[in-house]
Amino acid sequence: MGDDADLNKERLELVLEAAGLDLWENDLVSGQVTHKATKTFLELGFTEDEIVSGVQDIFGLFHPGDLDMVRQAVADHVAGVTAQYRAEFRLRSKAGEWVWFANYGRIMDRSSDTPGKRLIGVTFNIHDRKQKEDEIAHINRQLTEQNKLLQELNAALELLAANDSLTGLANRRTLMEMGANECKRTERFDHTLSLMVVDIDLFKAVNDAWGHLAGDRMICAVAQACAARKRSGVDIVARFGGEEFVIVLPETDGVSALRVAEALRQEVAALRVSVNDEGVSVSVTVSIGVATLHKGSGLSFEELVNRADKALYRAKETGRNAVYCADVQHGCVPVVHMLIDPGEGRNGALLT
Ligand code: GH3
Ligand code: MG
Ligand code: MG
Repeated sequence: MGDDADLNKERLELVLEAAGLDLWENDLVSGQVTHKATKTFLELGFTEDEIVSGVQDIFGLFHPGDLDMVRQAVADHVAGVTAQYRAEFRLRSKAGEWVWFANYGRIMDRSSDTPGKRLIGVTFNIHDRKQKEDEIAHINRQLTEQNKLLQELNAALELLAANDSLTGLANRRTLMEMGANECKRTERFDHTLSLMVVDIDLFKAVNDAWGHLAGDRMICAVAQACAARKRSGVDIVARFGGEEFVIVLPETDGVSALRVAEALRQEVAALRVSVNDEGVSVSVTVSIGVATLHKGSGLSFEELVNRADKALYRAKETGRNAVYCADVQHGCVPVVHMLIDPGEGRNGALLT
């Protein structure tokens, strides 16, 4: 019998050693440590003498941040809440460093009649694993941050793709998408929608005389004037091409659109655009073609743009700095013919 016990002890020792486990045992009733976890203390850098004399209480070495959790894990097991006692925690080495360990234990003599008192367990070093977990958590945090940055960059790129880089207005692609949607809304809700194409007059001459950068300044100045007319959240103001802009005016009839166009034409004509740093500024004019979409007309957004473009062409033909309207019955007519109040004769003076 004694031989068997020795053999079992040897076997157990070999298993513990091979698995890097340090066995301990506590008497829950007396509170005594009946088998001490010496290997753990040695790993922490304490000598055998120190273990016997000094380091009596392993709880004294626990990281303050882990202690409550460990005590709770023991209490849960003692109360029968958990089938095993498990905990991960840091212990302070003799050199003052924190080293990760884990405990796994169980009350061995618990039965239906008795709560048991022998809590047996093993302690083992999990420092490498914890460090790897920390590294992975660190990498994950970095990845999360990089992802956030990428999302921000993507949002910025999307904005760049949706907006013209010189003027910040919606670009042609955005215009065509949003314009088509507005046309659908117009059909569905029985509204009218008007659209104007604004083109800078004799712009090439500005480029030729003052250079491309001066031309860019002029484009920006006219873009600003167009944007200033925008009803926020309602209208679409876009750069359609080089020195050409499109303004979409939902829920706006032809007469109202012509008023807006005429006001814009006048405002641009009053502008002075500085073309160099020596204080030279020049005037600028635009020609505008207006077209209106009525419910049931079946016109696509592209067709509406084409109509406004035809009206613009007429404005160019008749001398520029003018507003023309695409009218179904009369073809393209100057703005004075379309206005309800013919008293606004100034338009006529400009257009004839
Ligand atoms: P019109 O009154 O008939 O419209 O004459 P225009 O000179 O304005 O028209 P045209 O189409 O002949 O010239 C447009 C010029 O705009 C030609 C092109 O070189 C210039 N352009 C296009 N895009 C840009 C730009 O981004 N910056 C500058 N500075 N010029 C541009
Ligand atoms: Mg032009
Ligand atoms: Mg043009």
